[in-house]
Amino acid sequence: MRPLCRWLFTILAFSITLASAAADNWNGKRAAVSLTYDDSLNVHLDNAIPVLDEYGFKATFYLTVGYPPFGERLNEWRAVAANGHELGNHSLYHPCDASQPGREWVNPERDLSQWSVARLVDNLKVANIALEAVDGKKERTYAYPCGDMSAGGESYVAAIKPLFVGARGVKSSIMQPDQVTLFDIDSYVINGSSVEQLKTLVDDAIAKGGLLVFLFHGVGGEHPLNVDNANHTALIKYLDKKREQLWVAPMVEIAQHLKKQPQ
Ligand SMILES: [Zn+2]
Repeated sequence: MRPLCRWLFTILAFSITLASAAADNWNGKRAAVSLTYDDSLNVHLDNAIPVLDEYGFKATFYLTVGYPPFGERLNEWRAVAANGHELGNHSLYHPCDASQPGREWVNPERDLSQWSVARLVDNLKVANIALEAVDGKKERTYAYPCGDMSAGGESYVAAIKPLFVGARGVKSSIMQPDQVTLFDIDSYVINGSSVEQLKTLVDDAIAKGGLLVFLFHGVGGEHPLNVDNANHTALIKYLDKKREQLWVAPMVEIAQHLKKQPQ
């Protein structure tokens, strides 16, 4: 090979290596999407999971162990986990910081501003045991109830790191791998979104080559923060249309993947 050809060949090989490294950011796909559903709602079992299963997408269900649709439908949640979805930890009774504005609804027994970090950690350990009894898994992620990250005025983030692979927060952004904070992963709270708004988020994630996390509560009702069932279904169909470019996975798989990346 002549020197110029060899030089060009070297440049080309280097470019291909760089391009494939970028493509590998998200398990070989251009972008990543995680679908997360909070608060142990019946509509997750009745509305969300059937369409996820129809299109073969795995999601994360952040279960509040003390809420009735968890205990009343244990066998269904067990089947959901056996089918590859993540049962995430969303605490026993959803404690939130009542000292924050607009938190008049918080039960004084579940007011995080009056709890110690140790009390919260004990609660989360028991919730993990309950979830392990259902799914048999040792590794899962956590979602901060109300997005609150402190108990008794003290951050509890460091104290829960031994319990989880990562934790989802409530700030909104599409993240590059090096922008993800494993114990405060950004997410988009979905409430009343149109199909176009949902699709725009997906398009944005693909354009940026980043991680997009959806945070759903109600899907066709059961919660004040809600998305129409038809709009949720349209989103899943859109993800299916774009699946060649997307790694759609539960939060635990994305967090495990990111942990393995060189920082
Ligand atoms: Zn919640």
